[in-house]
Amino acid sequence: MNEYDSKAVGDLLNSTHGFEISNNPEDADLILLNTCSIREKAEEKVFHELGRWKKLKEKNPNLKIGVGGCVASQEGEKIAKRAPFVDLVFGPQTIHKVPLLLDSSKENSLAIDISFPKTEKFDVIPKKNDFSPSSFVSIMEGCNKYCSFCVVPHTRGHEISRPLDDILEEVKHLSNKGTREIVFLGQNVNAYKDSETLENKKKGLGLANLIRQSAEIENIDRIRFTTSHPFEFGEELINVYKDVPELVNHVHLPLQSGSNKILKLMRRRYSIKSYIEIIEKLKKIRPAISISSDFIVGFPGETQKDFKATLDVVDEVGFDESFSFVYSPRPNTTAKEMEDLVTYEEKKSRLYKLQEKLTNNAQRISRRMVGKVERCLVTGVSKKDPSELQSRTENNRVVNFGDSDDSLIGKFVDLEIVDSRSNSLRGVLVQ
Ligand code: SF4
Repeated sequence: MNEYDSKAVGDLLNSTHGFEISNNPEDADLILLNTCSIREKAEEKVFHELGRWKKLKEKNPNLKIGVGGCVASQEGEKIAKRAPFVDLVFGPQTIHKVPLLLDSSKENSLAIDISFPKTEKFDVIPKKNDFSPSSFVSIMEGCNKYCSFCVVPHTRGHEISRPLDDILEEVKHLSNKGTREIVFLGQNVNAYKDSETLENKKKGLGLANLIRQSAEIENIDRIRFTTSHPFEFGEELINVYKDVPELVNHVHLPLQSGSNKILKLMRRRYSIKSYIEIIEKLKKIRPAISISSDFIVGFPGETQKDFKATLDVVDEVGFDESFSFVYSPRPNTTAKEMEDLVTYEEKKSRLYKLQEKLTNNAQRISRRMVGKVERCLVTGVSKKDPSELQSRTENNRVVNFGDSDDSLIGKFVDLEIVDSRSNSLRGVLVQ
Protein backbone atom coordinates (compact mmCIF):
# COMPACT_ATOMS: atom_id res chain seq x y z
CA MET A 1 0.00 0.00 0.00
CA ASN A 2 2.86 2.38 0.78
CA GLU A 3 4.47 1.61 -2.57
CA TYR A 4 1.18 2.46 -4.27
CA ASP A 5 0.79 5.69 -2.28
CA SER A 6 4.42 6.73 -2.89
CA LYS A 7 4.03 6.28 -6.62
CA ALA A 8 0.80 8.32 -6.51
CA VAL A 9 2.50 11.21 -4.65
CA GLY A 10 5.36 11.17 -7.20
CA ASP A 11 2.91 11.31 -10.12
CA LEU A 12 0.90 14.05 -8.45
CA LEU A 13 3.95 16.25 -7.77
CA ASN A 14 5.08 15.71 -11.33
CA SER A 15 1.76 17.00 -12.65
CA THR A 16 1.42 19.94 -10.22
CA HIS A 17 5.04 21.07 -9.73
CA GLY A 18 6.99 19.33 -12.49
CA PHE A 19 9.03 17.35 -9.96
CA GLU A 20 10.85 14.27 -11.17
CA ILE A 21 12.01 11.30 -9.13
CA SER A 22 15.69 11.47 -8.18
CA ASN A 23 17.61 8.41 -7.07
CA ASN A 24 20.06 10.54 -5.14
CA PRO A 25 18.88 12.41 -2.00
CA GLU A 26 21.79 14.88 -2.41
CA ASP A 27 20.26 16.14 -5.69
CA ALA A 28 16.71 16.43 -4.36
CA ASP A 29 14.70 19.62 -3.75
CA LEU A 30 12.13 17.65 -1.77
CA ILE A 31 12.53 14.40 0.14
CA LEU A 32 9.45 12.53 1.30
CA LEU A 33 9.51 9.57 3.63
CA ASN A 34 6.47 7.31 3.45
CA THR A 35 6.40 5.40 6.71
CA CYS A 36 5.05 2.24 8.30
CA SER A 37 4.29 1.85 12.00
CA ILE A 38 3.16 -1.77 12.06
CA ARG A 39 6.19 -2.62 14.22
CA GLU A 40 8.29 -0.53 16.58
CA LYS A 41 11.44 -1.22 14.58
CA ALA A 42 9.97 0.33 11.43
CA GLU A 43 8.99 3.40 13.42
CA GLU A 44 12.49 3.84 14.84
CA LYS A 45 13.94 3.63 11.33
CA VAL A 46 11.98 6.78 10.43
CA PHE A 47 13.85 8.92 12.94
CA HIS A 48 17.14 7.29 12.05
CA GLU A 49 16.63 8.17 8.37
CA LEU A 50 15.51 11.71 9.23
CA GLY A 51 18.72 12.16 11.21
CA ARG A 52 20.70 11.46 8.03
CA TRP A 53 18.64 13.91 6.01
CA LYS A 54 19.15 16.66 8.60
CA LYS A 55 22.74 16.90 7.38
CA LEU A 56 21.54 17.36 3.79
CA LYS A 57 19.33 20.22 4.92
CA GLU A 58 22.25 21.87 6.71
CA LYS A 59 24.10 21.84 3.37
CA ASN A 60 21.06 22.95 1.36
CA PRO A 61 18.65 25.13 3.41
CA ASN A 62 16.16 25.19 0.49
CA LEU A 63 15.65 21.45 0.74
CA LYS A 64 12.15 20.51 1.97
CA ILE A 65 11.56 17.34 3.97
CA GLY A 66 8.19 15.66 4.46
CA VAL A 67 6.97 12.65 6.43
CA GLY A 68 3.87 10.71 5.40
CA GLY A 69 2.22 7.37 6.13
CA CYS A 70 1.26 5.70 9.38
CA VAL A 71 4.04 7.06 11.62
CA ALA A 72 3.03 10.56 10.47
CA SER A 73 -0.59 9.79 11.27
CA GLN A 74 0.31 8.32 14.66
CA GLU A 75 2.82 10.94 15.80
CA GLY A 76 1.43 14.09 14.12
CA GLU A 77 3.05 17.26 15.40
CA LYS A 78 5.29 15.22 17.71
CA ILE A 79 7.43 14.45 14.65
CA ALA A 80 8.51 18.09 14.58
CA LYS A 81 9.52 17.87 18.26
CA ARG A 82 11.99 15.07 17.52
CA ALA A 83 12.90 16.38 14.06
CA PRO A 84 12.22 20.16 13.94
CA PHE A 85 13.71 20.47 10.44
CA VAL A 86 10.73 18.53 8.94
CA ASP A 87 8.58 20.88 6.78
CA LEU A 88 5.45 18.85 6.10
CA VAL A 89 3.55 15.94 7.62
CA PHE A 90 0.73 14.08 5.87
CA GLY A 91 -1.23 10.90 6.57
CA PRO A 92 -2.07 7.92 4.35
CA GLN A 93 -5.43 9.51 3.53
CA THR A 94 -4.05 12.97 2.67
CA ILE A 95 -1.38 12.13 0.10
CA HIS A 96 -3.33 14.21 -2.44
CA LYS A 97 -2.76 17.29 -0.27
CA VAL A 98 1.05 17.12 -0.48
CA PRO A 99 1.27 19.81 -3.24
CA LEU A 100 -0.84 22.18 -1.10
CA LEU A 101 1.16 21.41 2.04
CA LEU A 102 4.38 21.99 0.12
CA ASP A 103 3.19 25.40 -1.10
CA SER A 104 2.06 26.43 2.37
CA SER A 105 5.17 25.21 4.22
CA LYS A 106 7.32 28.02 5.58
CA GLU A 107 10.59 28.16 7.46
CA ASN A 108 10.22 27.23 11.14
CA SER A 109 6.60 26.15 10.82
CA LEU A 110 5.12 22.74 10.10
CA ALA A 111 2.51 22.22 7.36
CA ILE A 112 0.41 19.28 8.56
CA ASP A 113 -2.73 17.39 7.51
CA ILE A 114 -3.31 13.93 8.92
CA SER A 115 -7.10 13.90 8.63
CA PHE A 116 -9.18 11.02 7.21
CA PRO A 117 -11.24 12.54 4.37
CA LYS A 118 -13.29 9.84 2.55
CA THR A 119 -11.99 8.61 -0.80
CA GLU A 120 -11.22 12.05 -2.25
CA LYS A 121 -7.56 11.23 -2.72
CA PHE A 122 -8.53 8.87 -5.55
CA ASP A 123 -10.30 11.74 -7.35
CA VAL A 124 -7.18 13.89 -7.22
CA ILE A 125 -4.23 11.59 -7.90
CA PRO A 126 -3.47 11.38 -11.63
CA LYS A 127 -3.92 8.16 -13.60
CA LYS A 128 -0.79 6.05 -13.87
CA ASN A 129 0.66 6.67 -17.31
CA ASP A 130 3.73 4.47 -17.44
CA PHE A 131 3.65 0.85 -18.53
CA SER A 132 3.85 -1.88 -15.93
CA PRO A 133 3.07 -5.59 -16.57
CA SER A 134 1.68 -5.85 -13.02
CA SER A 135 -0.09 -2.94 -11.32
CA PHE A 136 -1.50 -2.29 -7.87
CA VAL A 137 -5.03 -0.93 -7.61
CA SER A 138 -6.20 0.30 -4.23
CA ILE A 139 -9.84 -0.68 -3.66
CA MET A 140 -10.41 0.22 -0.04
CA GLU A 141 -8.63 1.93 2.83
CA GLY A 142 -8.57 1.56 6.58
CA CYS A 143 -9.95 -1.12 8.86
CA ASN A 144 -12.72 -1.56 11.44
CA LYS A 145 -11.53 -4.83 12.92
CA TYR A 146 -9.41 -3.47 15.77
CA CYS A 147 -7.33 -6.61 16.20
CA SER A 148 -5.81 -6.10 19.62
CA PHE A 149 -2.21 -5.87 18.33
CA CYS A 150 -2.80 -3.64 15.31
CA VAL A 151 -2.24 0.08 14.91
CA VAL A 152 -3.84 0.32 11.43
CA PRO A 153 -7.39 1.38 12.46
CA HIS A 154 -5.77 4.20 14.46
CA THR A 155 -3.47 5.38 11.67
CA ARG A 156 -5.49 4.74 8.50
CA GLY A 157 -8.99 5.21 9.91
CA HIS A 158 -12.13 3.16 9.32
CA GLU A 159 -12.90 1.08 6.23
CA ILE A 160 -13.82 3.10 3.18
CA SER A 161 -14.42 1.42 -0.19
CA ARG A 162 -13.82 3.12 -3.53
CA PRO A 163 -16.82 3.17 -5.90
CA LEU A 164 -16.87 0.08 -8.14
CA ASP A 165 -17.05 2.11 -11.37
CA ASP A 166 -13.93 4.12 -10.44
CA ILE A 167 -11.96 0.94 -9.82
CA LEU A 168 -13.12 -0.69 -13.07
CA GLU A 169 -12.23 2.47 -14.96
CA GLU A 170 -8.72 2.39 -13.47
CA VAL A 171 -8.35 -1.30 -14.38
CA LYS A 172 -9.43 -0.54 -17.99
CA HIS A 173 -6.98 2.35 -18.16
CA LEU A 174 -4.13 0.13 -16.91
CA SER A 175 -5.09 -2.60 -19.36
CA ASN A 176 -4.90 -0.06 -22.22
CA LYS A 177 -1.39 0.80 -21.01
CA GLY A 178 -0.36 -2.86 -21.24
CA THR A 179 -0.93 -4.14 -17.68
CA ARG A 180 -1.72 -7.87 -17.65
CA GLU A 181 -1.87 -8.47 -13.89
CA ILE A 182 -3.85 -6.50 -11.32
CA VAL A 183 -3.18 -6.66 -7.59
CA PHE A 184 -6.13 -5.33 -5.62
CA LEU A 185 -4.94 -3.66 -2.45
CA GLY A 186 -6.50 -2.81 0.88
CA GLN A 187 -5.96 -3.35 4.58
CA ASN A 188 -8.77 -5.90 4.45
CA VAL A 189 -9.94 -6.36 0.85
CA ASN A 190 -12.65 -8.86 1.81
CA ALA A 191 -14.49 -5.98 3.45
CA TYR A 192 -14.72 -4.22 0.08
CA LYS A 193 -18.28 -3.23 -0.64
CA ASP A 194 -19.98 -1.29 -3.36
CA SER A 195 -23.38 0.27 -2.77
CA GLU A 196 -25.28 -2.70 -4.20
CA THR A 197 -23.65 -5.27 -1.97
CA LEU A 198 -23.79 -3.57 1.41
CA GLU A 199 -25.97 -6.29 2.98
CA ASN A 200 -23.87 -9.06 1.50
CA LYS A 201 -20.58 -7.67 2.72
CA LYS A 202 -20.04 -10.48 5.17
CA LYS A 203 -20.32 -13.06 2.41
CA GLY A 204 -17.50 -11.41 0.51
CA LEU A 205 -19.81 -10.50 -2.38
CA GLY A 206 -18.28 -7.04 -2.90
CA LEU A 207 -14.80 -8.33 -3.68
CA ALA A 208 -16.18 -11.34 -5.57
CA ASN A 209 -18.20 -9.05 -7.81
CA LEU A 210 -15.22 -6.76 -8.40
CA ILE A 211 -12.99 -9.71 -9.39
CA ARG A 212 -15.63 -11.11 -11.76
CA GLN A 213 -16.12 -7.76 -13.49
CA SER A 214 -12.37 -7.05 -13.72
CA ALA A 215 -11.72 -10.48 -15.24
CA GLU A 216 -14.03 -9.48 -18.11
CA ILE A 217 -11.75 -6.57 -19.04
CA GLU A 218 -9.69 -7.29 -22.12
CA ASN A 219 -6.06 -8.32 -21.52
CA ILE A 220 -6.45 -8.63 -17.75
CA ASP A 221 -5.24 -12.20 -17.38
CA ARG A 222 -4.20 -12.34 -13.75
CA ILE A 223 -5.85 -11.00 -10.64
CA ARG A 224 -4.44 -11.07 -7.11
CA PHE A 225 -5.62 -9.41 -3.92
CA THR A 226 -4.03 -8.60 -0.61
CA THR A 227 -4.57 -8.54 2.32
CA SER A 228 -7.56 -10.60 3.22
CA HIS A 229 -9.11 -11.57 6.54
CA PRO A 230 -10.45 -15.08 7.29
CA PHE A 231 -13.49 -13.56 9.05
CA GLU A 232 -14.92 -12.25 5.77
CA PHE A 233 -13.67 -14.95 3.39
CA GLY A 234 -17.21 -16.02 2.46
CA GLU A 235 -18.81 -18.47 0.02
CA GLU A 236 -19.15 -15.92 -2.79
CA LEU A 237 -15.44 -15.22 -2.75
CA ILE A 238 -14.56 -18.91 -2.54
CA ASN A 239 -16.83 -19.60 -5.53
CA VAL A 240 -14.88 -17.13 -7.67
CA TYR A 241 -12.01 -19.63 -7.61
CA LYS A 242 -14.35 -22.08 -9.38
CA ASP A 243 -15.13 -20.08 -12.46
CA VAL A 244 -12.70 -17.17 -12.81
CA PRO A 245 -9.40 -18.58 -14.12
CA GLU A 246 -7.86 -15.08 -14.05
CA LEU A 247 -7.88 -15.27 -10.23
CA VAL A 248 -4.46 -16.75 -9.46
CA ASN A 249 -3.86 -20.11 -7.84
CA HIS A 250 -2.47 -18.38 -4.78
CA VAL A 251 -4.05 -16.79 -1.73
CA HIS A 252 -2.50 -14.84 1.11
CA LEU A 253 -4.65 -15.44 4.18
CA PRO A 254 -3.16 -14.25 7.48
CA LEU A 255 -3.55 -16.81 10.28
CA GLN A 256 -1.41 -15.01 12.94
CA SER A 257 -1.58 -17.87 15.46
CA GLY A 258 -2.52 -21.55 15.55
CA SER A 259 -4.01 -21.29 19.06
CA ASN A 260 -7.68 -20.46 19.57
CA LYS A 261 -6.84 -18.89 22.92
CA ILE A 262 -4.36 -16.50 21.30
CA LEU A 263 -6.69 -15.77 18.36
CA LYS A 264 -9.30 -14.70 20.91
CA LEU A 265 -6.83 -12.46 22.73
CA MET A 266 -5.87 -11.01 19.34
CA ARG A 267 -9.59 -10.34 18.60
CA ARG A 268 -9.27 -12.08 15.25
CA ARG A 269 -12.92 -13.31 15.15
CA TYR A 270 -12.23 -16.77 13.69
CA SER A 271 -11.14 -20.13 15.05
CA ILE A 272 -8.59 -22.60 13.74
CA LYS A 273 -11.51 -24.79 12.68
CA SER A 274 -13.11 -22.06 10.56
CA TYR A 275 -9.72 -21.12 9.06
CA ILE A 276 -9.04 -24.73 8.06
CA GLU A 277 -12.56 -24.98 6.60
CA ILE A 278 -11.79 -22.07 4.24
CA ILE A 279 -8.52 -23.75 3.19
CA GLU A 280 -10.29 -27.08 2.63
CA LYS A 281 -12.95 -25.44 0.45
CA LEU A 282 -10.28 -23.65 -1.60
CA LYS A 283 -8.26 -26.85 -2.00
CA LYS A 284 -11.35 -28.73 -3.11
CA ILE A 285 -11.82 -26.23 -5.95
CA ARG A 286 -8.12 -25.73 -6.71
CA PRO A 287 -6.13 -28.72 -5.37
CA ALA A 288 -2.77 -27.11 -6.22
CA ILE A 289 -3.56 -23.70 -4.70
CA SER A 290 -0.63 -22.09 -2.89
CA ILE A 291 -1.42 -20.58 0.50
CA SER A 292 0.71 -18.02 2.28
CA SER A 293 0.16 -16.34 5.60
CA ASP A 294 1.28 -13.89 8.29
CA PHE A 295 2.26 -15.00 11.79
CA ILE A 296 2.91 -13.19 15.04
CA VAL A 297 5.06 -15.05 17.53
CA GLY A 298 5.30 -14.26 21.24
CA PHE A 299 1.93 -12.51 21.61
CA PRO A 300 1.24 -11.76 25.31
CA GLY A 301 0.10 -14.98 27.01
CA GLU A 302 1.48 -17.31 24.33
CA THR A 303 2.67 -20.51 26.03
CA GLN A 304 4.82 -23.28 24.58
CA LYS A 305 1.57 -25.20 24.00
CA ASP A 306 0.08 -22.28 22.02
CA PHE A 307 3.22 -21.97 19.96
CA LYS A 308 3.26 -25.70 19.28
CA ALA A 309 -0.34 -25.34 18.00
CA THR A 310 0.92 -22.77 15.46
CA LEU A 311 3.62 -25.18 14.26
CA ASP A 312 0.97 -27.91 13.95
CA VAL A 313 -1.25 -25.74 11.72
CA VAL A 314 1.78 -24.86 9.58
CA ASP A 315 2.33 -28.60 9.05
CA GLU A 316 -1.32 -29.23 8.36
CA VAL A 317 -1.79 -26.45 5.78
CA GLY A 318 1.69 -26.65 4.20
CA PHE A 319 2.04 -22.88 3.80
CA ASP A 320 4.04 -21.38 0.98
CA GLU A 321 6.36 -18.33 1.42
CA SER A 322 4.96 -16.42 4.43
CA PHE A 323 5.73 -13.52 6.74
CA SER A 324 6.43 -13.94 10.45
CA PHE A 325 7.44 -11.51 13.17
CA VAL A 326 7.95 -11.25 16.90
CA TYR A 327 5.02 -9.42 18.51
CA SER A 328 5.69 -5.70 18.85
CA PRO A 329 3.54 -3.58 21.20
CA ARG A 330 1.99 -0.63 19.36
CA PRO A 331 0.53 2.61 20.72
CA ASN A 332 -3.25 2.79 21.38
CA THR A 333 -3.73 -0.97 21.03
CA THR A 334 -5.33 -3.11 23.75
CA ALA A 335 -2.62 -5.80 23.52
CA LYS A 336 -0.09 -3.21 24.71
CA GLU A 337 -1.76 -3.31 28.14
CA MET A 338 -1.69 -7.14 28.40
CA GLU A 339 0.68 -8.87 30.74
CA ASP A 340 3.60 -10.27 28.76
CA LEU A 341 5.69 -12.84 30.60
CA VAL A 342 7.56 -14.40 27.68
CA THR A 343 11.19 -13.26 27.48
CA TYR A 344 12.50 -11.69 24.28
CA GLU A 345 15.05 -14.52 23.92
CA GLU A 346 12.25 -17.07 24.05
CA LYS A 347 10.25 -15.13 21.45
CA LYS A 348 13.26 -14.99 19.13
CA SER A 349 13.82 -18.70 19.56
CA ARG A 350 10.15 -19.41 18.67
CA LEU A 351 10.41 -17.14 15.63
CA TYR A 352 13.52 -18.99 14.48
CA LYS A 353 11.74 -22.36 14.77
CA LEU A 354 8.68 -21.13 12.90
CA GLN A 355 10.72 -19.50 10.14
CA GLU A 356 12.79 -22.63 9.71
CA LYS A 357 9.62 -24.64 9.18
CA LEU A 358 8.10 -22.08 6.80
CA THR A 359 11.33 -21.84 4.78
CA ASN A 360 11.58 -25.62 4.52
CA ASN A 361 7.96 -25.78 3.30
CA ALA A 362 8.52 -23.05 0.71
CA GLN A 363 11.73 -24.64 -0.55
CA ARG A 364 10.00 -28.01 -0.83
CA ILE A 365 7.30 -26.36 -2.98
CA SER A 366 10.01 -24.70 -5.14
CA ARG A 367 11.83 -28.02 -5.62
CA ARG A 368 8.56 -29.67 -6.65
CA MET A 369 8.22 -27.07 -9.41
CA VAL A 370 11.51 -28.13 -11.02
CA GLY A 371 10.84 -30.06 -14.25
CA LYS A 372 7.38 -28.52 -14.68
CA VAL A 373 6.33 -25.92 -17.24
CA GLU A 374 4.94 -22.77 -15.64
CA ARG A 375 3.04 -19.95 -17.31
CA CYS A 376 4.93 -16.83 -16.26
CA LEU A 377 4.34 -13.11 -16.68
CA VAL A 378 7.55 -11.39 -17.81
CA THR A 379 7.87 -8.42 -15.47
CA GLY A 380 11.19 -6.88 -16.54
CA VAL A 381 14.94 -7.26 -16.74
CA SER A 382 16.55 -9.47 -14.10
CA LYS A 383 17.81 -7.43 -11.13
CA LYS A 384 20.99 -9.45 -10.84
CA ASP A 385 21.86 -9.92 -14.51
CA PRO A 386 20.68 -7.32 -17.05
CA SER A 387 21.20 -9.82 -19.87
CA GLU A 388 18.35 -11.91 -18.46
CA LEU A 389 14.62 -11.39 -17.97
CA GLN A 390 12.57 -11.80 -14.82
CA SER A 391 9.09 -13.24 -14.59
CA ARG A 392 6.57 -14.44 -12.03
CA THR A 393 4.64 -17.66 -11.65
CA GLU A 394 1.05 -17.84 -10.40
CA ASN A 395 2.30 -18.59 -6.91
CA ASN A 396 4.40 -15.43 -7.14
CA ARG A 397 7.82 -17.06 -7.48
CA VAL A 398 10.44 -15.06 -9.35
CA VAL A 399 11.76 -17.00 -12.35
CA ASN A 400 14.85 -15.65 -14.13
CA PHE A 401 15.59 -16.85 -17.62
CA GLY A 402 18.34 -16.21 -20.13
CA ASP A 403 16.66 -14.14 -22.78
CA SER A 404 17.32 -10.50 -23.47
CA ASP A 405 14.40 -9.95 -25.85
CA ASP A 406 12.82 -6.92 -24.17
CA SER A 407 9.71 -7.29 -26.32
CA LEU A 408 8.73 -10.22 -24.08
CA ILE A 409 8.23 -7.84 -21.12
CA GLY A 410 4.51 -7.67 -20.35
CA LYS A 411 3.81 -10.99 -22.10
CA PHE A 412 3.08 -14.45 -20.77
CA VAL A 413 5.61 -17.15 -21.61
CA ASP A 414 5.86 -20.85 -20.84
CA LEU A 415 9.04 -21.61 -18.90
CA GLU A 416 10.38 -24.99 -17.92
CA ILE A 417 11.70 -24.70 -14.38
CA VAL A 418 15.22 -26.11 -14.36
CA ASP A 419 16.57 -25.08 -10.95
CA SER A 420 15.38 -23.92 -7.55
CA ARG A 421 17.52 -21.35 -5.69
CA SER A 422 17.00 -19.81 -2.25
CA ASN A 423 14.99 -16.76 -3.44
CA SER A 424 14.14 -17.53 -7.04
CA LEU A 425 13.80 -20.19 -9.72
CA ARG A 426 15.59 -20.57 -13.04
CA GLY A 427 13.64 -21.30 -16.19
CA VAL A 428 14.13 -22.06 -19.87
CA LEU A 429 11.78 -20.73 -22.52
CA VAL A 430 9.58 -23.43 -24.03
CA GLN A 431 8.96 -22.68 -27.71
FE1 SF4 B 1 -5.02 -4.63 11.52
FE2 SF4 B 1 -5.64 -6.41 9.61
FE3 SF4 B 1 -6.73 -6.61 12.08
FE4 SF4 B 1 -7.45 -4.62 10.44
S1 SF4 B 1 -7.79 -6.83 10.12
S2 SF4 B 1 -6.97 -4.42 12.64
S3 SF4 B 1 -5.52 -4.18 9.39
S4 SF4 B 1 -4.55 -6.85 11.52
